[in-house]
Amino acid sequence: MASYEAIIIGAGPAGLFAALSLENLGAGRVLLVEQGPDLTERRREQPGGLLCGWGGAGAYSDGKLILSPEVGGFLSDLLPLDDLTVLIQEVDGIYQELGAPPEIHGGDLDTLELLKTRARHAGMIFIPTRLRHIGTDNCRTILTRLRERLTGRVEIRTRCRARRIVVEEGAAAGVALDNNEVVRARYVIAAPGRSGAAWIREEARRLAIPSVPSPVDIGVRVEVPAAVLAPLTEAAYEAKLIYYSRTFDDKVRTFCMNPHGEVVLEDLDGLVTVNGHSYTSRKTENSNFAILVSSTFTHPFDDPISYGQYIARLANLLGQGALVQRLGDLQVGRRTTVARLERCLTRPTLKSATPGDLSFVLPYRYLKDILEMLEALDALAPGINSRHTLLYGMEVKFYSHRFQLSPELETPVRNLFIIGDGAGITRGLIQASASGLIAARALVGRG
Ligand SMILES: Cc1cc2nc3c(=O)[nH]c(=O)nc-3n(C[C@H](O)[C@H](O)[C@H](O)COP(=O)(O)OP(=O)(O)OC[C@H]3O[C@@H](n4cnc5c(N)ncnc54)[C@H](O)[C@@H]3O)c2cc1C
Repeated sequence: MASYEAIIIGAGPAGLFAALSLENLGAGRVLLVEQGPDLTERRREQPGGLLCGWGGAGAYSDGKLILSPEVGGFLSDLLPLDDLTVLIQEVDGIYQELGAPPEIHGGDLDTLELLKTRARHAGMIFIPTRLRHIGTDNCRTILTRLRERLTGRVEIRTRCRARRIVVEEGAAAGVALDNNEVVRARYVIAAPGRSGAAWIREEARRLAIPSVPSPVDIGVRVEVPAAVLAPLTEAAYEAKLIYYSRTFDDKVRTFCMNPHGEVVLEDLDGLVTVNGHSYTSRKTENSNFAILVSSTFTHPFDDPISYGQYIARLANLLGQGALVQRLGDLQVGRRTTVARLERCLTRPTLKSATPGDLSFVLPYRYLKDILEMLEALDALAPGINSRHTLLYGMEVKFYSHRFQLSPELETPVRNLFIIGDGAGITRGLIQASASGLIAARALVGRG
């Protein structure tokens, strides 16, 4: 039986940065297992292609590196804000070495202060966010360089799935792989991302690691002419706004703004949802962003993931995929038809969405929340609440259960670390990568 110092499960940003750090710190033999294909064999359109393989969900991501510690995860719940800020700078430095562009977006302080005040007047909270934008097209270059750096230094097995974490006397001892091989190691770092969330939840249950469900975010992708969103995207690039809805007092937020971007489909194990991208090399005449409502369920139902899937499935049932509707049609209670869509002044960038009626899919509560936020946003970016605004459904964000972890990201099972989005503690590239550094340093520090 082969024996390693550490086994890392998952080659997403969390697992890759853990591997990079272990290698830099001169840890012993390290094995990295990834259930999906290697980078050169990855195809987005294959089943599971978006999320699984070298680079994980980061490979086809928009590559926005969020540099503000309050956004993109909850690591600030586990370590002091100053430490997290330093760690984020370090991770950002590595991304730059690997080829991330030098520019930082986020706006100058005066503009941000003004936007904060204007948002307040419109009944919203504006969260200033600094970010570096790699762009979907450049993510691959960075992942290729990471692959080159690790080749020959870390043992890499792709198309190799971890089936079970082996625990002996309360401590991690290795991993059983799908081919029935058992690989022994002193430490196990699980970085399974959202695609491995169900697997790690089952493993955690088996190993009695406490966890709590995370909320599900449900909403729509909004598309407008780029000029309409410009007051926000030119001031802040990624304007994160929070709105507490009038009728339900729900927390509603904007997410993932893509100036001059495209609306795209996402296939999550047969469930078709929508998302948005912007490319550094090609620009459309539109901008898009999501409006999301967070929901938590407690008792007797505590499965927000199933709830979100149910709603997305309903959109798939009616639209045979994604739906698109003009805001004006939604407001007056009628379906958008092909003919009506042709008359829409905003030209859809996602051509395959079916013109339809989102009110058949979204519960009243979500519809009301979204319509009220669009009204509020119109004060900041006039024209957003126009009848020619396009709404695509559904956009659903599932998050993993959040596990009980120490500040070193170790579970109550000794020498077993769970990191990245799969641990429910991160939601983006920078914090997922940072979590890899935290775990790697912790175990090397133990000698
Ligand atoms: C379309 C899209 C756009 C995004 N855009 C951005 C963005 O602009 N900015 C941003 O900050 N974030 C973005 N994100 C989120 C970001 O990609 C994730 O936060 C990040 O990739 C999480 O990293 P991770 O390593 O924790 O998990 P992942 O990247 O999900 O990687 C986990 C890996 O583990 C593997 N795995 C799972 N289970 C097993 C197992 N049992 N055995 C072996 N391997 C396993 C999976 O195949 C996967 O490759 C985007 C995500 C998507 C889907």
